[in-house]
Amino acid sequence: MIRTLDIVCSECGEAFVPGEKLYYRDNYMATSIRDTKFICPACIAKWEAKWQIKDASFNEKDYVLTVDIELEDGSFYEHMDCTPLDETETVVVGEDIPVAAQRRLYEIYAAWDRERKAHYLKDCIFTDEFMRTSFTCETYGGEKFDNVAFRVTMRGELQTEIPVPDYIKKQILEAYKLYEAQNMDETIED
Ligand SMILES: [Zn+2]
Repeated sequence: MIRTLDIVCSECGEAFVPGEKLYYRDNYMATSIRDTKFICPACIAKWEAKWQIKDASFNEKDYVLTVDIELEDGSFYEHMDCTPLDETETVVVGEDIPVAAQRRLYEIYAAWDRERKAHYLKDCIFTDEFMRTSFTCETYGGEKFDNVAFRVTMRGELQTEIPVPDYIKKQILEAYKLYEAQNMDETIED
């Protein structure tokens, strides 16, 4: 049986003549071509024009990455779940957005990620000498501290013989706790 189908946009409700490509929305419930939600070229163009990213800021909390997005037209999208895909250099968010916007998000994400990683310690070595404990460490950003003597105060604060940024002190303190716990185990085994 040959049938016909009027092509109507599911966004604006207008009938339209498709171009070389026909846009439609994923719909896993669709059992017939009649259930397909087509989108007309005008609505696609409007959607692409809307998704001009002005700014985005990423946030990671408890291993969940979210992004706040500001568009050129002034609209805001806050705390959107997002997933950066390194292979395609795109960021997928919980909303249909054009590939160009996904790429733009990835650029912003990559810059943010580089910056935060720059402060992470790549390695850290502790040395115990007579009456002197010191650390040697380096961040991913290339910041180095060589053989810096330190002590941990009664209040659990790290005191260093030369000034060291707080973001490094915090990581040294965490690493030192592990180091001490490990050494304690060894002492007990002996
Ligand atoms: Zn339309």
